[in-house]
Amino acid sequence: MPEPRPSPKNETPLSRKIQATLEGDYADIRKQARELLTQPEFLPLPAGLSKEEFRKKTRERVAKFTASGLPRLPFDPKYGGGGDPKKFMQVIAMLGHADMSFFVKQGVNFGLFGMSMYALGTDKHHAKYLPPLLDGTLQGGFAMTEVGGGSDVQGVKTEAVYDHATRSFTINTPSAEGRKAFIGNAANDGEVMVVFAQLKMSKDGETQGVHAFMVPIRDKTGKVLPGVAIEDCGDKVGLNGVDNGYISFKNVRIPQADMLDRFATIDENGQYQSDTPKKTARFFKMISTLVTGRVAVAINSMSGAKSALTAAITHAANRDVFGKTLLDLPSAQTRLFPHLANAYAMHFATRLLTDKLVANDPDTETMAAAIKARASDDAMRAIDEGRLIAGGSGYMSEAVYGRLRNDVDVFRTFEGDNTVLRLLTARNRLTDNLKNNFNLSSAPGKKPEGDVLDPAYQEKLFAQRESEMLYGVTKKIADGAQAAGGLAQSADNCQDDMIAYADAYADRVMIEQFTKAVREEKDPQARAALKDLCDLFAVNTMQKNAVWLLENNFINLHQSAQLRETAQQLNRKIRPNALALVDAFAIPPQLISVPKAYVPANTAPKKAANGNTPRP
Ligand SMILES: Cc1cc2nc3c(=O)[nH]c(=O)nc-3n(C[C@H](O)[C@H](O)[C@H](O)COP(=O)(O)OP(=O)(O)OC[C@H]3O[C@@H](n4cnc5c(N)ncnc54)[C@H](O)[C@@H]3O)c2cc1C
Repeated sequence: MPEPRPSPKNETPLSRKIQATLEGDYADIRKQARELLTQPEFLPLPAGLSKEEFRKKTRERVAKFTASGLPRLPFDPKYGGGGDPKKFMQVIAMLGHADMSFFVKQGVNFGLFGMSMYALGTDKHHAKYLPPLLDGTLQGGFAMTEVGGGSDVQGVKTEAVYDHATRSFTINTPSAEGRKAFIGNAANDGEVMVVFAQLKMSKDGETQGVHAFMVPIRDKTGKVLPGVAIEDCGDKVGLNGVDNGYISFKNVRIPQADMLDRFATIDENGQYQSDTPKKTARFFKMISTLVTGRVAVAINSMSGAKSALTAAITHAANRDVFGKTLLDLPSAQTRLFPHLANAYAMHFATRLLTDKLVANDPDTETMAAAIKARASDDAMRAIDEGRLIAGGSGYMSEAVYGRLRNDVDVFRTFEGDNTVLRLLTARNRLTDNLKNNFNLSSAPGKKPEGDVLDPAYQEKLFAQRESEMLYGVTKKIADGAQAAGGLAQSADNCQDDMIAYADAYADRVMIEQFTKAVREEKDPQARAALKDLCDLFAVNTMQKNAVWLLENNFINLHQSAQLRETAQQLNRKIRPNALALVDAFAIPPQLISVPKAYVPANTAPKKAANGNTPRP
């Protein structure tokens, strides 16, 4: 078991104030989550556990989490839920600090399985499945992906054929391509899967498109049911506490009532009925309700980055290199502080995203796609830089970086591949723009002018950049449609522009939410510390996009050259607050272990490391 970081009493008023800002109205539930996660069952596991031992530990953690009652939070009180999905997202944000396998396995059970059944099903499904799910007597999974289709969910091969005489569906995997792939909870623990399949009213009939069905795969003794074949995915690069598997079905019969029928149903006369008659529209409507997991992955990507940054900044503040403190060196600040600024910007952006999710805002799907893609890409960069800042100690498996890197890696692929998600954001925004006849107000106009440290200028710059990019890509697609043979083909030719647009969209959301948080901060000391970080986020994002900003006359060469100097000045201002800024994440120090070499017996770190203070 790795050593926890030593814990000198060094909390600062500044870190407490910023923690209060980050937690907002949810300090109590965060405290409750911390109390759970600092119990012995959740502390870091020793390196080198076998896959079976790791799965067993993860299963136990999910059971303990279930027993805590916290997973009840997002569901309807009518079925034993807590009726507070926002609170649940606060809990979710803490889970990844303990272990990502645990976060993912509970996410498969309560999120992918529970929330999809909740979103796509109706009362009868909620009454049947929620009570056992919430009391821990039912384990579920979500079987969407197939070997042949991957991201192209609309093309799944699995079939559900209806028979009105028996009021039942028969589920079949027609080919090897149609095997369900990488499914969480499939290899060992899942009893029922939400299975996505093409609904057919007769064997040779036309498909009505993809629908979801509740399909049992194991009995209560854990035995795989007749007609179901399961193969373990085996060792993965990370997340080895989760039992992923391949599933195929041969003539598995389920009652008609186990079709999730919120968007389509089969009536008394055996007729297919839906309020959304067009197959594709129905599919997208259905899929758009499945964003909770995506939001949770965005939030935990950021939690991974926060854990790594807490470890790395604390390390750099305590590490001497060539007679100087590492964190005092400009290059170390340039390597770490933009990631810290980014983590804060993402914190405030995911707060908005959660609000939208809970309010069923129609923009949720578009925003969740861009933010999840961005959060997981950025988390990998932050974790990697943290590992490098920690030098050789960062390479020890006791340190946080290796496990985080291997676990967070797949956050870029599941819950939607990041490229496919960026295309989704762009497609949704383009569709709106085309419907509005190009929204000509966003055509290139007068460029914003002002001081790079002025929040009004920052907001204007990122908003105008986004709308000009949207205008540009919309026009390019429309102009190219005839030659390409249609808008869809033309859009395919413009994928690179669409992907760049989705990141500009994320930049705009992040800067808007960060400047808003700074504006609303009441405490002057906290506001000043957050303002510097927000400025660094703006300046760093401008640096990363300097070529576009120059090409499009948003800045000139002189202003571009100035950005580096401004960033360094901001780094120097951020340095004295750096430990307070990571301390404010309030990650229990027991969850951030450092290699033994850095915890010599009876030696406290020579500089206060604010992240080390145990939380009540
Ligand atoms: C550990 C793990 C756990 C998982 N758990 C589950 C689960 O519980 N349930 C479940 O249903 N699924 C699960 N998945 C599957 C996951 O959701 C898919 O892997 C993911 O959707 C991508 O599909 P794919 O792997 O087939 O990749 P593909 O779709 O084949 O993508 C491969 C590459 O092609 C690119 N690409 C694809 N389409 C386009 C396009 N239109 N334009 C441009 N580029 C494109 C992608 O960017 C990617 O780089 C899991 C996967 C893993 C690895």
